[in-house]
Amino acid sequence: MIPVTKPYLPPAEEYNKYLEGIWKRQWLTNNGPLVNELELKIAEFLGMKNFLYLSNGTIALQIAIKALGLKGEVITTPFSYVATTSSLVWEGCKPVFVDIDPRTWNIDRKKIEEAITPNTSAILATHVFGNPCDVIKISEIANKHNLPVIYDGAHAFGVKFLGKSLFEYGDISTVSFHATKLFHTIEGGGVFSNNKDLFKKMGFMRNFGHDGPEVFREVGINGKNSEFHAAMGLANIKKVDEIIAKRKILSELYDLKLTDLGFEKQKISKETTFNYSYYPILLDNEEATLLCLSRLNKSQIFPRRYFYPSLTQIPYLESDSLPISENISKRVLCLPIYYELSVEEVDLICRIIKSFLTNA
Ligand SMILES: *Cc1c(COP(=O)(O)O)cnc(C)c1O
Repeated sequence: MIPVTKPYLPPAEEYNKYLEGIWKRQWLTNNGPLVNELELKIAEFLGMKNFLYLSNGTIALQIAIKALGLKGEVITTPFSYVATTSSLVWEGCKPVFVDIDPRTWNIDRKKIEEAITPNTSAILATHVFGNPCDVIKISEIANKHNLPVIYDGAHAFGVKFLGKSLFEYGDISTVSFHATKLFHTIEGGGVFSNNKDLFKKMGFMRNFGHDGPEVFREVGINGKNSEFHAAMGLANIKKVDEIIAKRKILSELYDLKLTDLGFEKQKISKETTFNYSYYPILLDNEEATLLCLSRLNKSQIFPRRYFYPSLTQIPYLESDSLPISENISKRVLCLPIYYELSVEEVDLICRIIKSFLTNA
C-alpha cells in the first residue's frame, strides 16, 4: 500500500533516550525541559527569534485569533484545510472568502481590497502547500487599512522567502506538527510572532492565562503540549534537512516522469527556498481526477484530494461560490510523497497515471 504520506519515525533507541530522561525527572507536561529545548531548537533551525510550542496547529490559529482580539469579518482563503476557516467560526468571526490566484493557489491579493468593509478585522491567509503568499503586497494592503495579518503556515516548515523563514512575515504565523506534516511531533503546532507583546500574551493564553500560580493575566485555554511530543520533535528535527532533500529528489523525479503529460502545476513564488511538502497535480476536470484516483486506488496507491471541497461549500457557512477555488479543488490530486517513498514507487505511480491518461 502506498499512502499519500507516511510519518518519518526516528530510530526507537533515539526516542527511548528521551523517555529515560522523562522517567528520571517525572516531569510530563507544563512547560517541561524538553518542550523548552524544542522551542529553542526550532527557533534556531529556522533562524527565528522565538517559538511557542502548542498542542496542535488548530489551537495555534485559535490563540492567534484570540490574541489579536479579532471580531466581525476576517478575510480569508477558500482553498485551505477546513481548520483555517473553522477556527475563525469557532472564535465567533465571520470568514469572508476571497478567491485564489489560478497559478499560485494562494489568496489573490488583487481581490483583497474590494472585500474590505468597515467590519473587517484581519486577513488570514494560508501558504498553500508551503508556497509563499504575496507577503509583501499583502502587508502593504494590511498597513494601508490598519489590519493585522495571520498566516496559516501549517505547510511551511523550512520554507524561506527572500532569504528569511516564511514565518517572519505577518503579525503571527502558525504552524502544524501533525503526523501528516513534513516535520512532526505526532500532534503539535505553534505560533511565531516578532511582536513581543503579542508573543507574551499568547504564552499566557496557552496556559489558562497563568502568570505564576495565583495570577491570571489573560483569558486562557489549555494549549500546552507534553514532554513525549517534544521528545518526538527533538528526535525528528535532526533529520529535517535530510527529509527535505529526499522530498526534493522525489518531487523532481515526478516532474521528469510526468512532464510529457503536461499537468498544470502550482507556480511557486520567486525567491523561495521550498520544502516540497506535497506533490499536487491538476487534472483536466473532475471526471478525470476521480478516474485517476480510482485507477491508483485499484493498485493500492492512495493520493488525496487536497483541498476538496473548496471551503466556500462547507455546509455551516453561507458563502458565494468562488469559481477559481471551486475549479481547482475539483481537479487537484496530491500524489504520495514521503521520506521512505522509493524511486521505484514513484516510477510505478507515474506509469499507472500515464497508461490510463494515454488510453483515455
Ligand atoms: C494540518 C493543517 C491545519 C491544522 O493543524 P493540526 O495540527 O492538525 O491541528 C491547519 N491548517 C492547514 C492548512 C493544515 O494543513
